[in-house]
Amino acid sequence: MPLAPYASHAAASRGRRFAEAPARGRDDFQRDRDRIVHSTAFRRLVYKTQVFLNHEGDLFRTRLTHSLEVAQLGRAIARGLGLNEDLVEAIALAHDLGHTPFGHAGQDALHDCMADHGGFEHNLQSLKVVDALEQRYPAFDGLNLSFETREGILKHCSHRDALVLAAAEPGGVAQRFLDGGQPSLEAQLTNLADAIAYNAHDIDDGVRSGLLTLEQLDELPLVRQHRDAALAEYPALAGQPGRRLLFETIRRMLSAQVHDVIDATAAALAQAAPLDADAARRLPRLVGFSPAMHADGTALKRWLFRALYRHPQVNATTDVAKRVVRELFAAYVAAPQEMPADFAQRADRHRAVADYVAGMTDRFASREHRRLTGHDAFADLARALPPAGQATLEF
Ligand code: MG
Repeated sequence: MPLAPYASHAAASRGRRFAEAPARGRDDFQRDRDRIVHSTAFRRLVYKTQVFLNHEGDLFRTRLTHSLEVAQLGRAIARGLGLNEDLVEAIALAHDLGHTPFGHAGQDALHDCMADHGGFEHNLQSLKVVDALEQRYPAFDGLNLSFETREGILKHCSHRDALVLAAAEPGGVAQRFLDGGQPSLEAQLTNLADAIAYNAHDIDDGVRSGLLTLEQLDELPLVRQHRDAALAEYPALAGQPGRRLLFETIRRMLSAQVHDVIDATAAALAQAAPLDADAARRLPRLVGFSPAMHADGTALKRWLFRALYRHPQVNATTDVAKRVVRELFAAYVAAPQEMPADFAQRADRHRAVADYVAGMTDRFASREHRRLTGHDAFADLARALPPAGQATLEF
């Protein structure tokens, strides 16, 4: 399908903060994606927690595999709508670069540590990673990505943060949070692909961990509907060992959501008929689910919060992770020379520590915590808790 008129066209990009000659054989969004894949922050995603701590099992999603799933789902939706797949892929692969170690527990702890120093927000941090913290080019800090990729990375932004960003970059990626506009259709779409991905893979990881059961999932209309359809077509799945039935159910859920977004959005686009990408930015949000699918997705998200994200066993690891981040933060503030020189020498010590800790993988943070405090926080936890996941090799 050729790009729709309202798609983001690389040739019409608002450009990079530092002008560069075009790349041979790649347009600007393809080049952005390549820069993200080669960044250090991208490689760290493999050892960062999504929901289950990275050391709890080899098969749970990490931030890296989550980002790849978001890119896959996002590209499928973009293709169905004539939107720019390369831009979607770039945004998807970069959207979680600013996450701390230990998932949301790490982010919450770091935000508390920074309460008197401007706070910490992972989304803003993702932009900071690609704008400043990656240092690998001779002519500029960061990856010097194009406006459209950066706009997609900055998903949310408080009014206060938007004022700060807009002062440094007038009319830039934070302007829409002050003016009330929307981001590109590709950015809107990647946001939805993110939710489709984690709702589905957290069910899979939840069952894999033993914290959720298939019977519990019956409470969810979206799951029940697709499980029943799978069983109607393959009745023998009911008695089979293993998780073939769960995988088939999740596969159908994913397809149904992707098709729903494409159909609902195509209808909204046909009605609003934006002439180009900027016209779409000035309209209300056009990418979305049908009302029925939106309701099912919201119910699923709420249910996962209750049943999985607030599960006592997840809470126990969350508490330890928060303590590790708090103690690491305090240790570096007290002794900045324990950080590499480029962080230790920065004038704003608290922000330097936050940037340093946020960049850590789970296992590097655990190792540094052990080195600086002499205490192995997760070893105590491992002794107190039953192991998550199966003891046998599984697929
Ligand atoms: Mg995500």
